[in-house]
Amino acid sequence: MRPIFSKSDFFVISGPCAIESYDQMTAILNSEHKPSLIRGGIYKMRTKKSSFQGLGAEAIEIIKDLKDKMPFQFITEITDPRQIETLMPIVDCFQVGARNMYNYELLKELSHHKRPVVLKRGFSATIQEWLGATEYLHDLGEENIFLCERGIRTFETKLRNTLDLGAVIYLKNNHPFKVIVDPSHAMGDSKYVTDASLAALAAGADGLLVETHPTPKHALSDPEQALDLDLYNELIKKLQKACPIFEKELRI
Ligand code: PEP
Ligand code: MN
Repeated sequence: MRPIFSKSDFFVISGPCAIESYDQMTAILNSEHKPSLIRGGIYKMRTKKSSFQGLGAEAIEIIKDLKDKMPFQFITEITDPRQIETLMPIVDCFQVGARNMYNYELLKELSHHKRPVVLKRGFSATIQEWLGATEYLHDLGEENIFLCERGIRTFETKLRNTLDLGAVIYLKNNHPFKVIVDPSHAMGDSKYVTDASLAALAAGADGLLVETHPTPKHALSDPEQALDLDLYNELIKKLQKACPIFEKELRI
């Protein structure tokens, strides 16, 4: 087991919605505040079948190549238990997406493999249902289960989702799990991501899962919400100032 989070840290996991090319990933890895906790979609679960579905095997090769050249930890979404064996060699932490929070067969299978799991909240999942899903991961140990608040569906339509920071506060007060916030899918617009990130820190979150891209307007998925590398660097500078106020140490 390789736990990637520790107690007083505030983690920023960043990277593209989907891995698109070797150059895209090297640009991200070489940005001014070099990230070492990298996310990147290999298999994408898109609402429309005609949308970009991820590079699959080609993205696995890109990550293998990059891991030979530089040190970083890698997290990617797993959408089917049959992907476990091919992903295990490159993955330090699995992500279970909002669409799969209720996929108990997937969760049961992941509980037998020695990788931490980031469990995103389902679109309309209550906190109770979300916690129910963690029971299927029980064998991993609570220190290897990270809950990710990524915004829920409400009557509100101005933003992509409604970021439920109340859930973060509730969970941090009542449960042992680490809780991270995905401000990108919650807000759906890069111009709100920094403020939502600072609010997550203030609410007691243990970290962020944030989408970045060297050229967001050319991104093949979620172009509106990805931070470009300048905005990413600005976010890190703000977090460097804010983390000490909340007695957290920033890890990127
Ligand atoms: C993602 O992280 O790219 C993603 C698809 O997120 P979610 O499962 O929260 O929609
Ligand atoms: Mn995305």
